[in-house]
Amino acid sequence: MTKKEAAKRIAQLRKTINYYSYQYHVLDKLDISAAAWDSLKHELKQLEDAFPDLITPDSPTRRVSGQPLDKFIKVSHKERMLSLEDAFSPEETAAWQERIQKLVSASAKSAASNPRDKLDYFAELKIDGFAISLVYKDGLFAVGSTRGDGRTGEDVTQNLKTIESIPLKLEIRNGWPNDNIKKKVEALVKKGEIEIRGEVYMTKSAFKKVNREREKEGRPLYANPRNTAAGGIRQLDPKIAADRQLNFLAYDIVSDLGQKTHREKHQIARALGFKTDIGGYCRNLDEVIAFWERVEKKREKIPFQIDGLVVQVNSDNLFKKLGVVGKTPRGAIAFKFRPAETTTVVEDIIVQVGRTGALTPVAKLRPVKIGGVVVTRATLHNEDEIKRLDVRIGDTVLIQRAGDVIPDIVGAIKKMRTGKEKKFVMPKNCPICGGQVVRSEGEAVHRCVNKKCAVIQKRQINHFASRKAFDIDGLGPKIVAQLMNEGMISKSSDIFTLQEGDLIPLERFDQKSAKNLINAVKESRRITLSKFIYALGIRHVGEETAINLANYFSRLEKIKKAKLDDLLKVKDTGEIVAKSVREWFNDKSNQKLLADLVENGVEIEKQKTVKRKLAGKTFVLTGQLEEFTRDQVKDRIRRLGGDVSSSVSPETDFVVAGAEPGSKYDRAKKLGVKIIGEKEFKEMTR
Ligand SMILES: [Zn+2]
Repeated sequence: MTKKEAAKRIAQLRKTINYYSYQYHVLDKLDISAAAWDSLKHELKQLEDAFPDLITPDSPTRRVSGQPLDKFIKVSHKERMLSLEDAFSPEETAAWQERIQKLVSASAKSAASNPRDKLDYFAELKIDGFAISLVYKDGLFAVGSTRGDGRTGEDVTQNLKTIESIPLKLEIRNGWPNDNIKKKVEALVKKGEIEIRGEVYMTKSAFKKVNREREKEGRPLYANPRNTAAGGIRQLDPKIAADRQLNFLAYDIVSDLGQKTHREKHQIARALGFKTDIGGYCRNLDEVIAFWERVEKKREKIPFQIDGLVVQVNSDNLFKKLGVVGKTPRGAIAFKFRPAETTTVVEDIIVQVGRTGALTPVAKLRPVKIGGVVVTRATLHNEDEIKRLDVRIGDTVLIQRAGDVIPDIVGAIKKMRTGKEKKFVMPKNCPICGGQVVRSEGEAVHRCVNKKCAVIQKRQINHFASRKAFDIDGLGPKIVAQLMNEGMISKSSDIFTLQEGDLIPLERFDQKSAKNLINAVKESRRITLSKFIYALGIRHVGEETAINLANYFSRLEKIKKAKLDDLLKVKDTGEIVAKSVREWFNDKSNQKLLADLVENGVEIEKQKTVKRKLAGKTFVLTGQLEEFTRDQVKDRIRRLGGDVSSSVSPETDFVVAGAEPGSKYDRAKKLGVKIIGEKEFKEMTR
């Protein structure tokens, strides 16, 4: 290959590689295979090795080319690199707006102008990364530096060159705010200087990958993506920076390119081939707060770590006018998310039985606000985890809430111990069914050996929450299964301990649905005795029997103590039903359930004496009814307090006559007893 041919091929390769680099690192897509892309890079490298004088500083191969440095050179920033003041709540952000509004009004000449109408904002993700400045000379990446003390930073150009989302050469792409800006930039890319600022960061997946490799090699793991990114940039050997798979997001343009707003700065950066975040223009502070809430909710799903939003007045002119106090500009603020870590006390460690029979220890916490919601429990996963954390009942602990899971305990604060803390012991018997608890070899999880245990429990909870029982709106089988899976509930009484904040972090829940369910649970706590008995799911005790029991005993205490003989006196209650009721109330775990229900706020309404409109009336049946069997007719009469007799006498109040009545009909006529037909009977017993 001649040098001329090589030069042509090299130019073509660079163009193609840069194209895919932009696609992959800025647009997050890649249309060719990674192998093909690597192969192109390899060919370019070989050609450049063969013709070293064709190497240019903006060649993609130059990304990792620098020799390790002895020390960093100092760079002074043309314009100071500032830090931001923090706001931790919507209220604090509103206070910030008020402060700047006052300044704006004071400087406004016309008293008629209302500054409130003019304050609009640009809000963007606040990446947990490392701020840097990039200077391009004649379109080529020339100097990259750290913030340092704001006035002077360190030259880390070689390391920054390893970051593929930093263009080595500026390109004029699409999406310019206007033609004037585009023309100005085009001129400066040919001859002149452009300074861009942004954040170097590591994605969560790159961080995990790097740590996995380190683990394999037996090297100590990095603590977090931010420090790893910062450490990578501040290494003298660019190969180390390259290994960390760093990324860059642009958020500021220092040079005057004719931009009037912060929003335009983002547009310009994108049009020059930089990656920018999904930030948004906000017409007012309400929109800023709504955006903040939306982002906070999905922050776990964002591929890099963020700790809030950067909010600034959109007008560049106003931003400059507002000036700087100390090291922070007045026109911008770091609107931090609510802390996802806090401390509280472990009041108890309970064991929940999940859907698969796995026993999960769960810490019952002193209620505490975290990430904006009150939580009362944190999962402890299993016995080993408790041992590893050395968490004891009574301990003060640090908890964190990360995304869509119930909070985790990070560790116990041992300095807070008084000596009264108790160690947790995994129970030998299942707290639900009393079955044996075993831990299979090689498994971290303890399980109840009773395979049916969890299945029965799930069925029981579903029955408990169903329409004819506690009638809890929104607590259908799917949600029951989910709550059991998450270790939030394992028996009916647990339902009443749930808090809004326990539900919000879970999948399928948001603030509104969590609130609705908690309200529904609250409302369901007052219940009639008959529905309560039905809800317990006692074998052979359906709705009717529950009503009969409630009517007869009128108080739960009486049913609890009722002897078999007493139970047999209840209407329609035979031996089987009576025994089943007796056995249920004799069972220790059922007694515990009743106690828990009461303790958790369930209130049984006193059984109202049903108005028995047929009390004292005697009926005799004759003939065939169309709609009812004889038993059903009897049932209807008895339920309303009436009696059924087999023969007609002067004491008989009604004879219910169907088709082909017998001698009873004639006798009733003779005695002057009232005879009613099916329709009338139906009306009467409705
Ligand atoms: Zn069990």
